[in-house]
Amino acid sequence: QRLNNVFQFIDVGRQDPTKKALRVRKNEFVEIYQPFQPKQVSAQAHRCLDCGNPYCEWKCPVHNYIPNWLALASEGNILEAVELSHQTNSLPEVCGRVCPQDRLCEGACTLNDGFGAVTIGSTEKYITDTALAMGWKPDMSKVVWTDKKVAVIGAGPAGIGCADVLVRNGVKPVVFDRYPEIGGLLTFGIPEFKLEKTVMSRRREIFSEMGIEFRLNTEIGKDVSFESLLAEYDAVFLGMGTYKYMKGGFPGEDLPGVHEALPYLISNVNHCRGWEQSLDDFVDMKGKRVVVLGGGDTAMDCNRTAVRQGAKTVTCAYRRDQENMPGSRREVTNAKEEGVKFLFNRQPVEIVGDGKVEGIKVITTELGEPDEKGRRRPQAVPGSEEILPADAVIIAFGFQPNPPEWLVGNDVHLDDWQRVQAAEESEFSFQTSNPKVFAGGDMVRGSDLVVTAIYEGRKAAEGILDYLDI
Ligand code: FAD
Ligand code: SF4
Repeated sequence: QRLNNVFQFIDVGRQDPTKKALRVRKNEFVEIYQPFQPKQVSAQAHRCLDCGNPYCEWKCPVHNYIPNWLALASEGNILEAVELSHQTNSLPEVCGRVCPQDRLCEGACTLNDGFGAVTIGSTEKYITDTALAMGWKPDMSKVVWTDKKVAVIGAGPAGIGCADVLVRNGVKPVVFDRYPEIGGLLTFGIPEFKLEKTVMSRRREIFSEMGIEFRLNTEIGKDVSFESLLAEYDAVFLGMGTYKYMKGGFPGEDLPGVHEALPYLISNVNHCRGWEQSLDDFVDMKGKRVVVLGGGDTAMDCNRTAVRQGAKTVTCAYRRDQENMPGSRREVTNAKEEGVKFLFNRQPVEIVGDGKVEGIKVITTELGEPDEKGRRRPQAVPGSEEILPADAVIIAFGFQPNPPEWLVGNDVHLDDWQRVQAAEESEFSFQTSNPKVFAGGDMVRGSDLVVTAIYEGRKAAEGILDYLDI
């Protein structure tokens, strides 16, 4: 069938799933894409050239067998496709929704040379969503159970990736999280217009049935001591993320009306789901002129949340140009479509106001020499200050690691940036300086991506299996 259609990539262009009408999607906290239809999936999957050396696989952080499951999906063989997809990824339907594919798999597709990449992410989402709707569940019948058990701290993508590989190899994972639901930032961070919360609650049921035990509303270091986990379990995995908000360091950051991005997003999730403790916790932008500072995924999520809350205007100020934005281009496009105004090359210097936010002073920048990450440094243009009027400012400058003190007391070493030291190349993958403790995800690499956290959790599980000699 594939041979009959070698020119499919010319005859059929790249196609994304249809987005809901703007007037509808701007007002609701549900995913904006309509489900991909079987015909669309088949047409897209057929476009794959099945390159001998598939760059998409190399660029995908979990090295998914992309051309293989595209071929299975194009034939409608969903049950084989979903099995293959789960050999490399613990949450394929999540990655299909939130990975910045333009920078990863799709960015590496050979068809980018003038034809448009195969729609890989949406097909990945389709395969698992369809299989689950058909009643598919991971087959655990061949698992040989051992007597080993591992404590996993954090039910985010890293912890889940680790627990998934452990349980499939007969090791009992007990996952602790301080939050009432699994997912980490997938649940308490990323908004529902990108990833609906039911995706993770459905996953909780599946993982629980597989044998993963979740102990939620349990904070290690407060409700349960780290030392007791070291004593009771054969190994411990740390997947606790990065939660220290980066500050701008300019005057006015403490004025009423200035909000940190993550608490703002979480307050909206809690409000929409009926999880909030008190109505005072809800930060509502209805009728306000909102300025969001930052250019990453978190900033885009804040912009689009404010739009949906009924903000009068939403302006996103970013200190570099659009080319140098760190987040997914797809989400920037979505934000623009939904009415967010972007001001590029603007660096905030002061939040102004008398007892509350009234505006933000920004200065125009020009891009200079590249920094150590290869991104060009913004340099202020003297005399170019202007004040953007605002009733609320949301600061989305990113996150830094905040490892708890008890780690160091238990021989877990940190690097100069407070990241837990754990290397893939160690004798046991992602083992820390305490041989019984492994780590992965944002707390090891600094705040990054869902898919890289999943990868490190899975690799750490392989390290734990080797360490336990299983
Ligand atoms: P987390 O997801 O942070 O999970 C850590 C878990 O550990 C949390 O549940 C926390 O409650 C728990 N924990 C911490 N300390 C303790 C303790 N002492 N006891 C018990 N539990 C504890 N990435 C993408 O790929 N695409 C996106 O579109 C995207 N959008 C994002 C939007 C926002 C707003 C944010 C903030 C991030 C976004 N990211 C995105 C990044 C991505 O979410 C993270 O890189 C990823 O979630 C990291 O996974 P993790 O498992 O390392 O940590
Ligand atoms: Fe692409 Fe992410 Fe899926 Fe890999 S996990 S194929 S990078 S969408």
